[in-house]
Amino acid sequence: MDNKKLYHNAMEDLVEQEYERNKSKLGCCTCNRCRNDIIAYALNKLPTKYVVSHEGELYSKVDTVVHVQLETDIFRLLAQGAKLIGEHPRHTESDTQND
Ligand SMILES: [Zn+2]
Repeated sequence: MDNKKLYHNAMEDLVEQEYERNKSKLGCCTCNRCRNDIIAYALNKLPTKYVVSHEGELYSKVDTVVHVQLETDIFRLLAQGAKLIGEHPRHTESDTQND
């Protein structure tokens, strides 16, 4: 029996991609802690989008139409999150040292 997990929330990939493309515009600290806080903030407000992949196959990408519709929402939520987290950053000194 192989119960290896094949499902994955593709929304995580989309939000990470949007973050990486737009982080310079967000005006927020880009340390790993703040990055994770902002991405988690956006993910909590977005629907999940589970995809299932076969062994050795890349996770199937959410189709382009859905992606384009979501991009605006994702960016808006990342900007909201960046504002909130920028005002009350939860990073410590060690989080920002590698930045
Ligand atoms: Zn930070």
